[in-house]
Amino acid sequence: MATLLEFAEVCEKIKLTTSKNQKVSILANYLLKLSRNELPIACRLLTSKVFPPWDTRAVNISYSTISDAIKEITEVSEDKLKATYIKYGDLGEAAEELMKGKKITTLIQNTLTLQDVYSALDTAASKKGEGATEVRLRVLKGLLALCSPIEAKYLVKVLCGEMRIGLDEGLLEEALAAAYGRSLKQVREAGLIVADIGESALVALDGNFDAVKLSVFHPTNFMLAEEMPSPQEVADYFRCDLYAEYKYDGVRAQIHSSGKEVRIFSRRLEDVTNSFPEFSKPFSDKAVILDGEIVPYKDAPLPFQMLQRRLHRKEITKELLEETPVVYFAFDILYYNGETYISRPLRERRMILEGLNLQPPLYYANQIKVKLKEDIEEAFEASLKLGYEGLVIKHPDSVYTPGKRGKKWVKLKKELATLDVVIVAAEYGHGKRAGVLSDYTFAVKSEDGLKVIGKAYSGLTDKEIDEMTKILSAITVKDLGHLKIVEPKIVLEVAFNNIQKSSRHSSGYALRFPRIKRVRWDKNVDEIDTIDRVKEIYEIQAYKKML
Ligand code: AMP
Repeated sequence: MATLLEFAEVCEKIKLTTSKNQKVSILANYLLKLSRNELPIACRLLTSKVFPPWDTRAVNISYSTISDAIKEITEVSEDKLKATYIKYGDLGEAAEELMKGKKITTLIQNTLTLQDVYSALDTAASKKGEGATEVRLRVLKGLLALCSPIEAKYLVKVLCGEMRIGLDEGLLEEALAAAYGRSLKQVREAGLIVADIGESALVALDGNFDAVKLSVFHPTNFMLAEEMPSPQEVADYFRCDLYAEYKYDGVRAQIHSSGKEVRIFSRRLEDVTNSFPEFSKPFSDKAVILDGEIVPYKDAPLPFQMLQRRLHRKEITKELLEETPVVYFAFDILYYNGETYISRPLRERRMILEGLNLQPPLYYANQIKVKLKEDIEEAFEASLKLGYEGLVIKHPDSVYTPGKRGKKWVKLKKELATLDVVIVAAEYGHGKRAGVLSDYTFAVKSEDGLKVIGKAYSGLTDKEIDEMTKILSAITVKDLGHLKIVEPKIVLEVAFNNIQKSSRHSSGYALRFPRIKRVRWDKNVDEIDTIDRVKEIYEIQAYKKML
């Protein structure tokens, strides 16, 4: 029987070695000792999870409940716990130290099995609503009472959702491949489809990769699209007939329907069924998995922010349903009547999707056939006019690759926002722009001076570039040949599609696909945007990704 003690000792060994190969080999040896039932439990615990991501049971033992349990079991004061926590910055490490002086002991120790831990946490997670916190505290105290210091450390780390031992899912996949002699690529690909490390472990154990299938009420990862800067690039890249779909601004969702039941899963594979009761009616007499976007909508798209009021709410009242009407735009079908469709081309999947006869509030995503740059521009303009975000352009032969951002689907987005920035340096361009200063490094302001946030090459006409070359040469403060550092005087309005964290620039951020909208001759450097505004835009965007 796999014990918690052995699990903890393996974790400790992994933590103590920095060699990746050694970590993999320690793990692989450990995995080989586990039974079929123990394997998924151990793999989830190793990545600080107890259940698959879509499971409605959530352990949800808060920091304060864990702290209370540690205090009661070790009989230490709040201050002592706090001081120990601060010493390590990790509640698991603190628990280990405090457990060394544990006063309450039981006669039987070190016999907890992984199955015991799982069953106890299942009890804790299954209790909802009133009294749940007490049950969780009781369960955790019961477990800790049976733990040695090292077991307590790793139990607490699992519950805090962070192991901090230099082990992630990727490394565990390597260990699974090594343990059972499988190809890492196959283990990873199956992992993206089954979307749960416990399940991946069983697939790796059996080696039955071809048999990996989807099943209803067990979500898979979503296929993602690569961003492209312009219709021209999309047309040049594909040079063939394509499907252009509107890019709806909402939350990605898989809708699973079978028999009388419908369940909805978010991009993070969480079960969000309760937030969207309008989709709860089964829409086919066959079992189906749809992929699409939930969009706030009444006659026209409504602001994305409306969805925030729906998600993570305990109760969806009638008023809330009326205030925040939503529809679903389906653009893919992954499973139908017992068959997994992800390896079939999109054109075939779309035909099956259209055969479903979806009824409002379920709609089909609009699809326009395009090929040339002009077709794409026209579809893009039509999308913006209707209030959508741009286009997702898909190759008709594309298979559905869960969890991958490939170039079979690409997105063209309208600008996210614009920023007023100041040019701090300029470079000579290439080709026909070899003799003119056409590449500009620009900055936003912060309390301690200007901070560089990006570089733009496009957006100005040849005439404007000639004029800029003259002005920039006149305000050059340091001439480094190809690069000229200039006085921060010229303000640009730049558009961009998103903001990324980046160590390349002094601001710590970088704009994606920046382009100059215009030169703001009317503004001076005091009026440019601040790093705080950049952070604000970044955070809204990051929040959207989390949904
Ligand atoms: P982004 O979140 O900006 O990276 O864009 C990708 C997201 O666009 C996807 O994850 C979907 O949520 C959303 N989306 C909207 N319309 C579509 C569509 N027709 N096809 C695929 N994704 C879409």
